[in-house]
Amino acid sequence: MKVLMIGSGGREHVLTWKLAQSPRVDKIYAAPGNGGMAELAECVDLSVEDIAGCLAFAKEHQIDLTVVGPEVPLVMGMVDAFEAEGLKVFGPNKHCAQFEGSKAFTKEFLFRHKIPTAAYKEYTDFDEIIKDLGVYGYPMVIKADGLAAGKGVLIPENEAAAREGMEMIMKKREFGEAGNKVVIEEFLTGQEASMLCFVDGKTIVPMESAQDYKRAYDNDEGLNTGGMGTYSPNVLFADEALNKRIKAEILDPIIGGFIADGMNFKGILFIGLMIESGVPKVLEFNVRFGDPEAQSVLMRMESDLVDIMEAVIDGKLADCEIKWSHKEAVCVVIASGGYPGTYKKGQVITGIDDVKDCVVFHAGTKLVNGELKTNGGRVLCVTALGETREAARKTVYANIGKIHFEGAQYRTDIAKFS
Ligand code: AMP
Repeated sequence: MKVLMIGSGGREHVLTWKLAQSPRVDKIYAAPGNGGMAELAECVDLSVEDIAGCLAFAKEHQIDLTVVGPEVPLVMGMVDAFEAEGLKVFGPNKHCAQFEGSKAFTKEFLFRHKIPTAAYKEYTDFDEIIKDLGVYGYPMVIKADGLAAGKGVLIPENEAAAREGMEMIMKKREFGEAGNKVVIEEFLTGQEASMLCFVDGKTIVPMESAQDYKRAYDNDEGLNTGGMGTYSPNVLFADEALNKRIKAEILDPIIGGFIADGMNFKGILFIGLMIESGVPKVLEFNVRFGDPEAQSVLMRMESDLVDIMEAVIDGKLADCEIKWSHKEAVCVVIASGGYPGTYKKGQVITGIDDVKDCVVFHAGTKLVNGELKTNGGRVLCVTALGETREAARKTVYANIGKIHFEGAQYRTDIAKFS
């Protein structure tokens, strides 16, 4: 089988690593890939947004399966373009990808199907929203409707900050077209957790759970990032009563809603949850693997990912048994100095070969004349399995210091319970 992996982040590296383990896979291409993926796949110089280019490549090279990693090509309709040419492709179509492409689309779905979520209102007119500032009290949650690379949610503490935020989104257009519409929400409190699920149109199957760490620095200090580390399984999901509620109140109505609305959702659904006193509510949907959740979760998957992806595409997930390792996983991200603010690219990376008992997934790296260099904010994800979370954690932290590049930074408290 020939596989084409679309994307270049840590998520796409772990997907490539897992697909490469399948005895059914002979050759993997990555568009555009990264320095780590280059060891498992042939990297092709195509942007993830170049739908026509990726499609032409897949046809020319007789690709048997294309896996779309990031949200941007999904929201742009890459899956529809491949399906129209009769090619096998993993990911939701453009209509379903609106769950990530529009906050209002998701909120309307959740309310239509009575799935617990925060109260909300949507606006396209600046003067209308200004009249309603503080309608749910403060802090207030303001969301640019469209894709904003994870930066489109503001949580102002008072009216002045809310007004400034609205001006930034709707007047100064900081998020461009993503700010054409705005959603405001009631502020929910509790513990945040996420679930990754496979969906084949009629069945939804949650994967093993993971917990991520969003803030840049130890003790959850600093700015929000794309994610600085994860561990799996998430201790929150050890609570059976909570799992039952999530199934009855969230998972079953989601799949029922997809069917009732005539949506043939196939691919990954990432459900962001807020849990307070055992009551789960949906914060958001994403339509692809979380990064770095995928690193911890897929390290623990024992089944062949190609079989599962085919079952999703063919609508046969109910017949597919997904096996997981009892071992626990920890993943720690090494980021460029300054991330999530400004940072330098092109720093030489050394020491990866000295790392033992871990898999080092690349997130932002590039091979330049055979030399590995940094090429993004999140650079590497050091991931290990262990009989316990603590054992996996020790393995990661015993090795992570062997990797060097100028300005490298990482959290020292991932998966640490005080
Ligand atoms: P979203 O992309 O919609 O998940 O929002 C990003 C982050 O904003 C979430 O991970 C939460 O930390 C926070 N957030 C979003 N919606 C709410 C809400 N209604 N109440 C409290 N926090 C929220």
